[in-house]
Amino acid sequence: MATSDSRIDLLDLEPDVALAQLRTWMNERGEPAYRATQVLGRLWQKPVRTIDDISELPKALREALAVDFRISSLELATRQASIDGTEKFLFRLDDGQLIETVAIPDGDRLTFCISSQAGCALKCAFCATGAMGFQRNLRPSEIAGQVRELRMLTPAIVPTNIVFMGMGEPLMNWKAVSPTLTLLNDPRALGIGARHITISTVGVLPGIQALAARPEQFRLAISIHAPSDELRQTLMPVNTKYPLAEVIEAAKEFDRRVTFEYVMLGGVNDQPEHAAQLAQLARECRAFVNLIPLHPGGGMGFHPTPAPVIASFAKALRGRSIETAIRRSRGLDIAAACGQLRTERLGRRLPVATEDDREVHVA
Ligand code: SF4
Repeated sequence: MATSDSRIDLLDLEPDVALAQLRTWMNERGEPAYRATQVLGRLWQKPVRTIDDISELPKALREALAVDFRISSLELATRQASIDGTEKFLFRLDDGQLIETVAIPDGDRLTFCISSQAGCALKCAFCATGAMGFQRNLRPSEIAGQVRELRMLTPAIVPTNIVFMGMGEPLMNWKAVSPTLTLLNDPRALGIGARHITISTVGVLPGIQALAARPEQFRLAISIHAPSDELRQTLMPVNTKYPLAEVIEAAKEFDRRVTFEYVMLGGVNDQPEHAAQLAQLARECRAFVNLIPLHPGGGMGFHPTPAPVIASFAKALRGRSIETAIRRSRGLDIAAACGQLRTERLGRRLPVATEDDREVHVA
């Protein structure tokens, strides 16, 4: 099912690059430069499905353009709505891979949780996507394309915020994620403010450095999940390559506010000593801590921390002057946890009960 289309997908290109290529192409054919700007405007701002839909271009020009370029699209395979307003979308890519996007309303905000890889290689012990294994990296057109597709629905679904917390580890796909950040942020593309775009990572150090080097104020969230190497090793195999101390050092050097993500696993990482250790790490990096309840039903052999224990954990952090929030579980009735819808569609059974609700990618 892999595509053999060798044309340039215009949605893979940052606006400057797309414009330059289109101008050159137009120039070679004696067409005015404004034609390139017209095409660019139809990629993201007033998006069309195909080059043939760019009706402001003469038919012959559209046909010629479509010989060298294309505008790809993602096929919406499944859409599920939760009673709490959360919506989950499963997209089929042109090689048959399935990826997920979740839209989470919260007051006047609408956050899209987007995927950056099909599957994931990192095998965090509590994660459905990790259990599927790695399929492939997504291209910019497939990452930013998730936002584009939802904006093209009727009525349009337009996000105020983006988090890279869907399937995959975004900083393991920096080659595509970096141009995607440009596409999300650039006013000629999706125009979402950098402070409203968060990269969530397990702590891939080269990726954090690359993100820090970008001038825009993109946000960084780091999945800690365990406050010691010993425990973290058992939950997140990637800790061998990027040990906690080095991740904390990278967080300290990041020149913007960092958030720690911490999934609450009953009896595993939710004890008072863990709160004390976590507070120490958060203090070192002046990090904000997000406590993430494991969804009811648990998963992968883990159980949710009871709500009163989460509250005590949060209190212990706040008592040490650490800004802390307890994230609400969303989309419980549609299983809005990363990898889950895809797993259902693939007909695979996870080694857990039916309501396999985990709030991931918490990496
Ligand atoms: S939590 Fe994130 S990094 Fe870990 S296996 Fe799942 S998708 Fe990959």
